[in-house]
Amino acid sequence: MQANFPIAGIMPFSATDWPGKLTASVFTTGCPWACVYCHNPALQDPYGETTATVDELMELLASREGLLDAVVFSGGEPTMHRGLPVVIREVRRRFPALGVGLHTCGYLPSRIHELVDDPTSRPDWVGLDVKALPETLPGVVGCTPAGARNAWESLNFLAEASAAGLLELQVRTTVWHGGILEEQLPRLQEEVASRGLDLVIQWAHDVDSDGHYVGV
Ligand code: SF4
Repeated sequence: MQANFPIAGIMPFSATDWPGKLTASVFTTGCPWACVYCHNPALQDPYGETTATVDELMELLASREGLLDAVVFSGGEPTMHRGLPVVIREVRRRFPALGVGLHTCGYLPSRIHELVDDPTSRPDWVGLDVKALPETLPGVVGCTPAGARNAWESLNFLAEASAAGLLELQVRTTVWHGGILEEQLPRLQEEVASRGLDLVIQWAHDVDSDGHYVGV
């Protein structure tokens, strides 16, 4: 099938990308952000190396039918690609028993709206990385202040969609010991709690005191 959806890699079995589910996880190329702690900056290039086609993904899912609970689209940032709703619809059509999960930073709320407003492309579960409070986000991910407001608009929209029972939402963030994000964690937790959600905290590894990835 034709879809603008570059795949950097596929993990055929994963138990960590959607809590409680055994998934195939698909990693797209490209990310609009450059988080200080990013462990995989090669994935930030939207024109980076691809290793599989959408047809090959469908073949893999067919070969594992009955063995998987779901497919998770991750990145990079999967919502960068116009083909994402097309691919989700194809998964729904061919594998109706399979759940669909999405990892996103929510940088483009219009794409999140587009996905969720149409039941045929709506993920069943979303893992949203909020990263930081709006005023801190630009310094952590390299976005503009407007980009930070957009990401928080996605949080608001997805929280409402979750409250309406349209999808399940996990909100998470990454912090490092001694950094500004750890200092602001109580406020971030309050903001997320005020939207009726828990914040899942991931600790960054192999970073310096400013959170910059230093490799291993
Ligand atoms: S959003 Fe994810 S892939 Fe993009 S720069 Fe940040 S950590 Fe890396």
